[in-house]
Order: sequence, then structure tokens, then C-alpha cells
Amino acid sequence: MLCSICLETISSPKEEEELECKHKYHTKCIEQWLVRDSSCPLCRKPMGYSREELMEICYKIERNSFYLLMFLLVTIQLSLWLYTMITSNE
Ligand SMILES: [Zn+2]
Ligand SMILES: [Zn+2]
Repeated sequence: MLCSICLETISSPKEEEELECKHKYHTKCIEQWLVRDSSCPLCRKPMGYSREELMEICYKIERNSFYLLMFLLVTIQLSLWLYTMITSNE
């Protein structure tokens, strides 16, 4: 069984995801695909993924960059606070 997205063999049923059209892909491959395009890569059949499920997939992928953003925001807040402390002491 070949995954048509990465063209590699799907070795175990655990990492396999079958779409409604019976085409099979790696779970990771089809998740990343469906973020950009919510239809089957092979037959273009629209997927039964709901908006919430797609949001959930997007969230999983973007979570790392979200933490980075939060870290930057906190750092900026902290340096602003330090700046205020220093200037108010003068
Ligand atoms: Zn794949
Ligand atoms: Zn298909």
C-alpha cells in the first residue's frame, strides 16, 4: 500500500488513514494535506472533515509557533516593565 502524498509505503495500519473515497494515506500526510485542501489528493472528493476537526488539525500544527509567540510577548512585556521600573527610579 502506497501513500500518494509522500510516495512511501504505509507499513502499519496504525499510521494509515482511509478517506471516505477508500483512498489511503499516512495519517500525518493527509492531515497536513487537508489543512491546505479539504479534498482527496487523488480523486478530489471533498472530505467529511468538519470545520472543527480542521481547526483542531491546524491547532496541532501551529501550537509550536503559538508558544514561541507567547514567549516573545512575555519577554517584551517584561522588558517594558523593567524599563518602567528603571525610569521611575530616576
Ligand atoms: Zn505519506
Ligand atoms: Zn480519493
